[in-house]
Amino acid sequence: MKAAVLYGKEDLKIVNDFEEPTMRESDVLIQSKFTGLCSTDRSLYRGFVPFRPPLILGHEIAGVVKEVGSSVAELDAGDHVIIPPVYPGCEDETCPSCREGLTNRCKRSVFIGHGVHGGNAELIAAPARYSFKIDKAVPLDEACIVPDAVSTPFHALKSRCVPAHMFQCTSPSELFDKTSHWLKGKNVVVFGVGGVGGPAINLAARYFQVKNVIAVDIFDNKLDFAKKLGATHTVNSRAYFEDNNIAIKELTGRDKAKAISGLAKHISSLLAEDKFQVDLVVDCSGVPDTFPVGVETVSKNRTIVQVGWPPKPVNAFLNQKIMDKYLTINGTWACPMNEMEEVVKAVEDGLVDLNLLVTNKGYSLDQMVQAIEDLEAGKILGRATIAIQ
Ligand SMILES: [Zn+2]
Ligand SMILES: [Zn+2]
Repeated sequence: MKAAVLYGKEDLKIVNDFEEPTMRESDVLIQSKFTGLCSTDRSLYRGFVPFRPPLILGHEIAGVVKEVGSSVAELDAGDHVIIPPVYPGCEDETCPSCREGLTNRCKRSVFIGHGVHGGNAELIAAPARYSFKIDKAVPLDEACIVPDAVSTPFHALKSRCVPAHMFQCTSPSELFDKTSHWLKGKNVVVFGVGGVGGPAINLAARYFQVKNVIAVDIFDNKLDFAKKLGATHTVNSRAYFEDNNIAIKELTGRDKAKAISGLAKHISSLLAEDKFQVDLVVDCSGVPDTFPVGVETVSKNRTIVQVGWPPKPVNAFLNQKIMDKYLTINGTWACPMNEMEEVVKAVEDGLVDLNLLVTNKGYSLDQMVQAIEDLEAGKILGRATIAIQ
C-alpha cells in the first residue's frame, strides 16, 4: 500500500509497496481517507521525540471501513469512522487506569502514528470498539480533526476544569452533566490560538456555553480567527508589552513578576462586569512563558488546565501564588473513550464549527513535508488536513 513513512529524523519517504496491516478478529480494516496535521507529527519528523523507525505518521484519522473482523458486530463495511490517537491496549480495560475510567491513560496505551503505524497510509487496522462511527453528513476532511484537535480540549473542558473543592458541595452528576455543567455561564481564558486552542475556544463558547472567552495570543490574525470561533474578547500579549514599553525578555525577578501581573490584570479587566472573575485558564500555547501569566490571571479557588506541551520547563514556578490562591492545576491528556462518543455527538449535532477549524485542506500525502514546513512557518491558522487517497 502507499504510505508516508518516517525512516529517521527528517527522512520521510512516500512508499508505494509498504506492507499492509494485519487485522485481528476484533479489528476493522479502515481505508484512511484524511488525517489532521498535528504539531506532534512535526516533533516526530524533526526528531524532537524518540520513535522506532520505520513509522507511518498520522494520528488524527477519518476513514471508511473496508472489512470487519469475524467477531465485530457494531460496524459494517462502508461506515465512516474516526479513530482516537490514544486508545487502551490492556485486556478488556482491566488495568488500574482503565478501571478508574481513564481509558485515555491506559497502562498499555496504544499511540497510533507514534508507538504503532498511523493513518498516513491507504489502510490501517484498529480495534472495532475504538473505531467511532460518525454520520456520513460530516465531511471526512473535517471529521479527521475530531479525534485529537477537538477531543483533547473537549476532555480538558468537560472533565479537568472543575476546582477540586467543588466536589465537596456539589454532586458530580450535576457538575459534569451537559445541561448543568459547571462551566456554563463562567469566564474562560485560553492561551494560544492554534490547532488545539481554536477548538477549545469554539467548544467553550458553543458547547459549554460559557459567558466570556478571552483568547490570548501574540498574533493578530490568530486573534481575529479566535473571534470567528466564538471568543468574546482578545488580547495580544506581545502588543500589550510593546505598548507599555516593557521589554519582558530582558526582565528578571521582581520586575518580571510585576510585568506579568500587569498583563494578567489587563486580561481580566476585560471582564469588568464580572469583577475580574476568571474561572478557568486553558493553556494551549505550548510555550512555558504563559504558565506564570495563567497563575496571575486565574481567580482564587479556580483551575488552570495545561493542554499544550511546552518543550522547556517553566522557570518561574509561582508556588506561593498557587498556594494562597488555592488553585487547582490540572494536566490533561487525550480523551477517554466514553467522552469520544460525546464528542462525536457534539459534532453530529453541529455544535462544533469544523468548517472554520479546518483552515487548510489542500495537502496530499506526497506533500507531507511541505505541510510540516508550512506549519512551522506559521502558514496554518487552524488545522491542516491531508488527503490520503
Ligand atoms: Zn495530535
Ligand atoms: Zn488499560
